[in-house]
Amino acid sequence: MRVTFLGTGTSGGVPMINCDCPVCRSTNPKNKRLRSSVMIEINDRFLLIDTTPDMRQQFLRHRFPRIDAILYTHAHADHIFGLDEIRRFNYLMKKRLPAYGNAATMQRLIKVFDYAFAAPEIEFQKGIPNLSAHVIEGPTEIFGIEVLPIPLIHGEQTIFGYRIENFAYCTDVNQIPEESYDLLKNLDVLVLDALREKRHPSHFSLGEAITEARRIGARQTYFTHISHILDHNRHGQMLPKQMAFAYDGLELEL
Ligand SMILES: [Zn+2]
Ligand SMILES: [Zn+2]
Ligand SMILES: [Zn+2]
Repeated sequence: MRVTFLGTGTSGGVPMINCDCPVCRSTNPKNKRLRSSVMIEINDRFLLIDTTPDMRQQFLRHRFPRIDAILYTHAHADHIFGLDEIRRFNYLMKKRLPAYGNAATMQRLIKVFDYAFAAPEIEFQKGIPNLSAHVIEGPTEIFGIEVLPIPLIHGEQTIFGYRIENFAYCTDVNQIPEESYDLLKNLDVLVLDALREKRHPSHFSLGEAITEARRIGARQTYFTHISHILDHNRHGQMLPKQMAFAYDGLELEL
């Protein structure tokens, strides 16, 4: 399995518009963060988690040949507003693509992108995205790959993280339900939300994320959904062993 981080930034991205802080002005490429998303390649299949507003840029940068399925964590703007770019893959692959998520996420997607879910299966050449919506609640096989949704609390909503084999991706979370810890045992790699130093009502702070990462005990934890408050090097060197900031372009072989 190969995991590529397409973006590791919070909703506004880093740099933020019109911000002159040291991280936004930093020349370190690891402080440039597009909106959070990963591509998982497994058994010659390409599973994309979320379609961010930066999706076009992310796919120009990485040149993935195809997308087989999209897993949505939730329907906040920073995780869905690249959906229109899927039409390029509909055209190239001559296929409708399946999108998966919990009921609230899929309802919201269908409301916002009604045209993408309304097209008949064969009409993929008219310049509109063509997706099928699949509500999932528990372990789901997608092309023979076992995908395990991990319920996570994100402010007022329950959203999904996803586990595939010993890799788990848990962005946009400020509390992990007790039952979900059982789904996060024996991980080689955990990806976890760590927004900033101060606490936040819908994201883990860095301190909270470190505490959670210790409890979960993955062999390696990478933090994502990072704001402009956190400097890759300055804050990164203070992290405990087996924990690090993810960065755009980071690739993991598992
Ligand atoms: Zn987000
Ligand atoms: Zn800034
Ligand atoms: Zn969110």
